Amino acid sequence: MAALSDLSIQFLKGVGPSRKKLFENLGVHTIEDLFYLFPRRYEDRRVITPISELKVGEWQVVIGEVYAKGGRRTFFNKKHVFEVVLSDSGSRVSCTWFNQPYLENYFHPGDRVVVYGRVEIFNDKKQIMSPEYEVIKEGDEATSTARIVPIYPLTRGITQRYLRKVMLVALDKYGHDLIDVVPDKIRQRNLLPSIVESIRQLHFPDDDKAREEGNQRVSFEEFFLFQVSVILRRKTLQAKKGFSHFIPEEFNFRFTQSFPFELTGSQNRAIGELSGDMKKSTSMLRLLQGDVGSGKTVVSFFGCMAAVTNGYQAAIMCPTEILAEQHFSTFTQYFNAGPFGEVRVALLNSSLKKKSKEVLYRQIKAGEVDVVIGTHALLEESVEFKNLSFVAVDEQHKFGVKQRAILSSKGNNPDMLVMTATPIPRTLCLTLYGDLDVSVINDKPKGRGLIKTYHFTGEQADGVYKRVAEWVSKGTQAYIVYPVIDESEKADLKAAVDMYMRFQQDDFKSFRVGLVHGRLPEGEAREVMNKFKRHELDILVTTTVLEVGIDVPNANVMVIENAELFGLAQLHQLRGRIGRSEKNAVCVLLGDPQSDEGKKRLDVILRTIDGFKIAEQDLEIRGPGQYFGRHQHGLNELRLVNPKTQIGVLESARKEAVDLVKADPNLKAHLLVKESIRKRYPEYLKRILAG
Ligand code: ADP
Ligand code: MG
Repeated sequence: MAALSDLSIQFLKGVGPSRKKLFENLGVHTIEDLFYLFPRRYEDRRVITPISELKVGEWQVVIGEVYAKGGRRTFFNKKHVFEVVLSDSGSRVSCTWFNQPYLENYFHPGDRVVVYGRVEIFNDKKQIMSPEYEVIKEGDEATSTARIVPIYPLTRGITQRYLRKVMLVALDKYGHDLIDVVPDKIRQRNLLPSIVESIRQLHFPDDDKAREEGNQRVSFEEFFLFQVSVILRRKTLQAKKGFSHFIPEEFNFRFTQSFPFELTGSQNRAIGELSGDMKKSTSMLRLLQGDVGSGKTVVSFFGCMAAVTNGYQAAIMCPTEILAEQHFSTFTQYFNAGPFGEVRVALLNSSLKKKSKEVLYRQIKAGEVDVVIGTHALLEESVEFKNLSFVAVDEQHKFGVKQRAILSSKGNNPDMLVMTATPIPRTLCLTLYGDLDVSVINDKPKGRGLIKTYHFTGEQADGVYKRVAEWVSKGTQAYIVYPVIDESEKADLKAAVDMYMRFQQDDFKSFRVGLVHGRLPEGEAREVMNKFKRHELDILVTTTVLEVGIDVPNANVMVIENAELFGLAQLHQLRGRIGRSEKNAVCVLLGDPQSDEGKKRLDVILRTIDGFKIAEQDLEIRGPGQYFGRHQHGLNELRLVNPKTQIGVLESARKEAVDLVKADPNLKAHLLVKESIRKRYPEYLKRILAG
């Protein structure tokens, strides 16, 4: 019997080759994938209210027959209105939808329809505005009415009804072949139902309790496997032989002499930890966490210089050319002709001309360059080092595990420092980065000004722009940031581009205004950024491409438009771009949050400046699931039903994972766990589980 993860859904009744293609759009290829395609939400259709008993002001489910239907346009603003009159046992209620003309073809007189919505009074009659709706067909009873109904994410060509049916067929035929990966003992100890029961309850719940238990069971397994793999990985890393650097006291002294400022307490502590690791003969993998602007770069320079004074090479990899250039120029500033004499440092970007690239490759290979600072271009096969002993990865969440591994493979187990400006709450840090040693920078360089944060509504924007103009005329520079969901979408950029035009011609016409966004060619974007850095621009209109690492100390004003659309971490990152000099800075959040969550987010940003505290709040609001995405780890996303409210499950899963590996370090008695990890985290664990 083939495993469910090898069984194509094509052979499921009702699927076939063309539907199979559609399923692929949902990321579903196999029966297992299908089982793990969880509903976005559920609708409770257990209680159906007869039309005659509908109560005004309440959300209710109605099942009725289409008695009449019709579309029209409103007299005032020509909106399309579509109305369906439903009847049951002689009572009638009307349902209306705005601007959805295609509904005219969806409903037919005589159709049996289920709707869910809030009942209102309009012209003395009961009606339901914009309800959820679904036409019920023969045979739908089992999946779509009189139960808690799953509402799935859909793709063109796949309807709720169809998907529910396929799911039910699949569950009946293959549900029992789901295998419990979590060992029975652990399952019992944590009161978790079987996977067979859990998956069924997640799709067609008997009640909320059973569904929640299923949810916990699935999350537990995901967290558990992830944890076991993290712990195993740490063990192998600890055993790896690498470079042992000689770092005498005198080196530390010369290093601190290289800067025009004093290092902060946490910079010194992090450097001490890094130095301890680099002296050891085992290879280092250390995560440096520090808030935006806390001065992480200096710490990575320590690693570079330790390598160089030992006669080895070092590399720093950055996610963008702008950042690479920035690091290159600060490195040059501190270390050329400083207390270390001449250090040969090179910048390696993909925009480098072919000729110069080849020259550089030769020099790196011959050991004629000591430190290479660059982008992804560092990963190219032709980049070979003579003896690379230290690598740093800046803004590491922008890279995958695989890319880090490629960089590392350019040396013989070089020491590696990965840096992130996304503070991670302590509870999560162990879980997520249990395979790494962690250093934290939690203070900021002395003598920085304060950042004051304010909130104004969209209506007050013009007044805000006036103030911005006043500040800018006194010599400070300003960012105006727009939320863009998808930088590749032209429509999404429209607001930023339109406002840029308006600013140039109107609000800020006496200033120099620039625009950057994700659709500009990298060279052009860099040019605008550099102009802003050199103060050849006063105001920069930008999308979130700004988020990563950029350092312009004279920019002390930021306006964030539609701030309610940004996540907490993002808002914090953005705000971290200002307040980088001794002057005070101002951040204005413009927006009209509709949801409670949106209000809460703005509130947190208004009250809190500490990235770690903000991260704790974010965890509370959004739950831990978000941290396990592809972007954080370069791994498959965990298959969670709902990222929220599972921190307890996460903690118990971690505890069980620790105990399991302690008792059975090679998973000899837990072959199923071993096999699942091999499947789920192949890149991460290739070497560890070999054999
Ligand atoms: P991040 O942690 O966000 O990467 P950077 O390393 O870019 O921060 O540092 C931000 C700014 O602070 C830079 O201009 C850097 O030169 C400056 N800086 C770093 N350390 C100190 C310090 N100890 N004292 C004063 N300024 C510092
Ligand atoms: Mg940085």
